[in-house]
Amino acid sequence: MENTLPHYELFAIRYATREARRADHFIGGDPHDGPMPMDYFLWVAVGPERTFVIDTGFRAEVAAMRGRTFLRCPVEALALVGVDGARVQDVILTHLHYDHVGNFHRFPTATFHLQEAELAYATGRYMRHPRLAHSFEIEDVVGVVRLNFARRVMFYDGPAELAPGVTLHPVGGHSAGMQFVRVHTRRGWVVVASDVTHFYENMASGRPFTTAFHVGKMLEGYDALRAHAASVHHIIPGHDPLVMRCYPAPTSNLEGIVARLDVAPDETLLPT
Ligand SMILES: [Zn+2]
Repeated sequence: MENTLPHYELFAIRYATREARRADHFIGGDPHDGPMPMDYFLWVAVGPERTFVIDTGFRAEVAAMRGRTFLRCPVEALALVGVDGARVQDVILTHLHYDHVGNFHRFPTATFHLQEAELAYATGRYMRHPRLAHSFEIEDVVGVVRLNFARRVMFYDGPAELAPGVTLHPVGGHSAGMQFVRVHTRRGWVVVASDVTHFYENMASGRPFTTAFHVGKMLEGYDALRAHAASVHHIIPGHDPLVMRCYPAPTSNLEGIVARLDVAPDETLLPT
């Protein structure tokens, strides 16, 4: 069965970054504080028949408002791997935080794939608490509600296979309807963790990221990532600058902008 699955090409595109400290990224802080920058990505799986865009980044205006360094428009950057946002048919939203759903309006022909629990969370009782609401842009949330009325959102209530070689896995934790994506590539299944683990180190040390809805589910999310990957070298964290360093660019002019995740990483740079 496995060997009949299509092989997807899989890319990470880095569109923004910010300076930060180690203590910003772990609940309880970090005893060895120092710089720990954070990158912002979207991901694309290009198969023989279908293309899946995984998350849609944020806009320049939101970057300015939130003090992020905007490197390039994530939707325009899709052209670097031969994908035209205007023609994309499928967008997977791992969750609805501002840095993952900001450009939904730039995909006019797409269906959006989302866990039902995520929209319930983003429109529900907890959004009266700034601690949880600050990760959402209200216009994004309202925009997804409008997309639903336009019959352009597919909701899932559990794991799902979108196509042979592309599967969704809800774990909650960081956000109530957080899901990760598994993509079949020529090196086997690769797990696009998104914010199930922001950095390799959150998962490796069992210390969740500071934006947390349910800490217990975040910890179990790390176990779920491991259970769905052949090794840690098949798991792609959502915000770790190491991804750009240990995976090669498709061509040398895309160094630091696009990384190929369907080829083996430089394991010497990665935690075991
Ligand atoms: Zn998030």
